[in-house]
Amino acid sequence: MGDIALTTLGQDIMARLDEAARFSEPGPGVTRFFLTPEHRQVADLVRRWMEEAGLAVHMDAAGTVVGRLEGPAPDAPTLIVGSHVDTVREGGKYDGMLGVVMPIVCAQEIRRSGTALPYALEIVAFGDEEGARFPTTLIGSRALSGLFDPATLDLADRAGVTLGQAFADFGLDPAGIPALKRDPEKTLGYVEVHIEQGPVLEAEDLPVGVVTAITGIERHTVAFTGKASHAGTTPMETRRDALAGAAQAIAAVERIARETDDLVGTVGSILMEPNVINVIPARCELGVELRSPERGIRETARRTVLESCEEIARARGLGFEHTLGYEEDGAACSPRIVAALKEAVEADGYRPRELFSGAGHDGLAMSALTDIGMLFVRCRDGLSHHPDEHIAEEDADAGARVLLSFLTRFGTPRP
Ligand SMILES: [Zn+2]
Repeated sequence: MGDIALTTLGQDIMARLDEAARFSEPGPGVTRFFLTPEHRQVADLVRRWMEEAGLAVHMDAAGTVVGRLEGPAPDAPTLIVGSHVDTVREGGKYDGMLGVVMPIVCAQEIRRSGTALPYALEIVAFGDEEGARFPTTLIGSRALSGLFDPATLDLADRAGVTLGQAFADFGLDPAGIPALKRDPEKTLGYVEVHIEQGPVLEAEDLPVGVVTAITGIERHTVAFTGKASHAGTTPMETRRDALAGAAQAIAAVERIARETDDLVGTVGSILMEPNVINVIPARCELGVELRSPERGIRETARRTVLESCEEIARARGLGFEHTLGYEEDGAACSPRIVAALKEAVEADGYRPRELFSGAGHDGLAMSALTDIGMLFVRCRDGLSHHPDEHIAEEDADAGARVLLSFLTRFGTPRP
């Protein structure tokens, strides 16, 4: 990777991200799924980088590459830093990989400068965060926090290969996963660097931001039932049009989300029957998603949305049904880690902007084990999960310097 005096940390990071992106299924962008040949290739690359940085490396039973820099004493607590190496189909080079590469480059710099950390540093490269291959997710981080559910081993990918079989084909024995659970007493925290995947930092011209919470998510199916009848002969006053009611509900979800701080709401799917141009719609089903880092905000918004839907149905003489299909609580970042990251951001000369993550991350699972924190790096046009995902080299450099400041200060008693 060249001499540190000749290349910036940012250049080093960008070169490594380009190198990692070569390990992909053919096609646009990067496609790298859990327990595939591409996963093996990138894991070998990450292992080599970690070894070059002076870390002791192994792959754990959940397919996570773990590199460890011992602390001052064998019983020193461990700070875990990392992210994921898998991608969505036709994703970008930076989602996940940035948070693996950046701490490796920082660890190399820490070793080079002879800095002694007051804790053991572990860098983790989780194999599955996106859930793109199997209908489950956060496998590596769930393993560390003791949340891995062995029943998921029976889940199959689209080709019919079960997760358990995929582990075996990869040369791993998932029977070893329960033993990966870490001791919270010996764990200092989990910190992840990630691209923002949103437009806030770009809009405010900031290279990095400090995450205060990872969003919680709930998904609902709401269905309006009316009556199919002839579109030419049924008078407007006597119609029971399910789609017209649903249209009002879509507008209500948008209005409620716009009027509520720290909440986003989306109607992302619609099913309509009979879906025929000259028949009044009889039934319309909407997929409604609400996200907020605060459960209370989400629950209040949920009540408001459902009351609006019921009111719309009543006014139009429609039937209304509702089911909550999925709910995952958010996770607050630890005030201690947030404060330390903000200090590092300020020390490097940037305004410490706080923001919440509207996307899920490994921190959700890690928060069951230990304190979590995240540093976001600005990405172009807020674009992610897309081949055109991009970050600037200067921002990679700024992020690395902030992470380095954080790592060298964290866990040290203040003077
Ligand atoms: Zn990610």
